[in-house]
Amino acid sequence: MGPLAPHVVFPERNQSIPVRDSNFIFGSVGNGQATLTINGATVPVAPNGTFLGYLPVPPPTAPRYELVVRHGADSAKLTVPVRVPPARPELTTSGRLVIDSSSVSPRGGSMTLRENEPVRVSVRAPLNAVAWASANGVNYPLVNVSANTFATDVPAGQMRTGATVYVARGADTVHLALMKPQIRDANVAQYVSLGDAAAQTDTDATIIGRSTPAGTYKWMFVPGTLVQETGRSGDNVRVRLDSQLEAWVDETSVKQLSAGYPSPRRTVGAMALVPSADWVDVVMPVSSPPPYLIEQDLDHITLTLYGTQATPDIIKFLQNDSLVRSVNWVPDASDRIRLSMELSRPPYGYLVLFDQRGFVLRLRRPPRVNPARPLEGLTITVDPGHPPGGAIGPTGLTEAAGVLPVSMKLKEILEQRGAKVVLTRTTMDPVDLHLRSVIARRANSHALISIHLNAFGDGVNPFPNVGTSTLYFHPQTEPLARLVQAGMMREMGLRDLGIHYQNIAIGRTMWMPSLICEGAFLMVPEQENAVTTPEFQERFARGVADGVEAYFRLFATR
Ligand SMILES: [Zn+2]
Repeated sequence: MGPLAPHVVFPERNQSIPVRDSNFIFGSVGNGQATLTINGATVPVAPNGTFLGYLPVPPPTAPRYELVVRHGADSAKLTVPVRVPPARPELTTSGRLVIDSSSVSPRGGSMTLRENEPVRVSVRAPLNAVAWASANGVNYPLVNVSANTFATDVPAGQMRTGATVYVARGADTVHLALMKPQIRDANVAQYVSLGDAAAQTDTDATIIGRSTPAGTYKWMFVPGTLVQETGRSGDNVRVRLDSQLEAWVDETSVKQLSAGYPSPRRTVGAMALVPSADWVDVVMPVSSPPPYLIEQDLDHITLTLYGTQATPDIIKFLQNDSLVRSVNWVPDASDRIRLSMELSRPPYGYLVLFDQRGFVLRLRRPPRVNPARPLEGLTITVDPGHPPGGAIGPTGLTEAAGVLPVSMKLKEILEQRGAKVVLTRTTMDPVDLHLRSVIARRANSHALISIHLNAFGDGVNPFPNVGTSTLYFHPQTEPLARLVQAGMMREMGLRDLGIHYQNIAIGRTMWMPSLICEGAFLMVPEQENAVTTPEFQERFARGVADGVEAYFRLFATR
């Protein structure tokens, strides 16, 4: 093998490491027979000269990795400086009073809250200190809640002109200013439009709603949905869906309406069930799109309309539909209705539209499948994950490059078995993440399969955690996820990490089952190396194809 040439792929020079304990480091040394130490610890070198180590994070006093590579009489050194979190101050119970000033909250950022909303004020301080917040001339004692953490809740309105946290021990006192929240007058309702009403008929232009700022996504709103703005936290806006529920959306999706804009009055009138060959439309006449939530279980679909009333004096079943057995509506609250639909089989996919008829829930019928050749005539979208972004391996192989041949192979196998395959990319040019599920929906695909290679978050020990997993978002995808995972396990023989519910972006298309295959971990030398071999690419693709085929066989009519 070649000359000693130590190279670290992760972390990059001066990269900031957000954890304090241990983290991984990987790269190559140029020779598979060489030995490697990093900060004095021995790290194994793979036959192709790459390495992966999991080592203590360098201390703030010496924030660097020092690599020493040896082979025979030859040696080479490399130093990679990094940025690490500052040392935690020691919160001693004697001597000069020291507190953890980086722990004082809230300090940075911005918030808009109602006058009476509680703001959590907290600080880490020695156990024998006393702490309090002073706001609007009132002192609020902080209570020791765990270890060295002291906290209390202060009404936002009290902090509007500024507040200070104090920590004292004997004659020693430390104080720090807290963030000033903006206050939203609860007596003046400010309505906003989520997205642009002009995009109302574009089913791909949904607005994501979350249950906490920047948290897991739960709602997908139609552009032009009118809601009340009730608060802000940084770039996240809190909106009221109805009298009992609030959600968070990105600031960029909020369009301000003029002050005094009236509340949306939404009343659903006579509903109708309109069947077509490939779907059934549940049509709900209403003047503007309501915020909504769809929940699914085995043979049931529930649609909740927030900030909406109903007088559906009749529900018109145009014919006795084979998919929708019954529709029942319940006023859950004075401004919330819940539509419960009993189906004859598990929901396959759905789409929410807002058109001249009103709010429409389009329920997709499952495909008709030939048991002898289950994929015959079906359309499958195969998505080679990334770029932009993605993982990287010790030789510098990117995830985007690693998954492309696997996806090409998968296309070939699915086509041999009778499917029509759409690829979201065939080159290394970046494709927007959102566009990938749009491509699948526009092709009227029966499934969206996204091929990825996994990576770890900072601080995770890779060695006990490597293997194969499948990620999905919609309950309708769960049977497909199980079968694809089983197919990959049979073919690839790595550790079974199981299937996981995760708020993956490609899960935002509900028209078909969609999932992500995380075949292997790119940072692991042996797995990165395997990914470059046609044999492993073939096994990865065949495992996925077998799972997809087994899934569609479930729909076969004999
Ligand atoms: Zn990925």
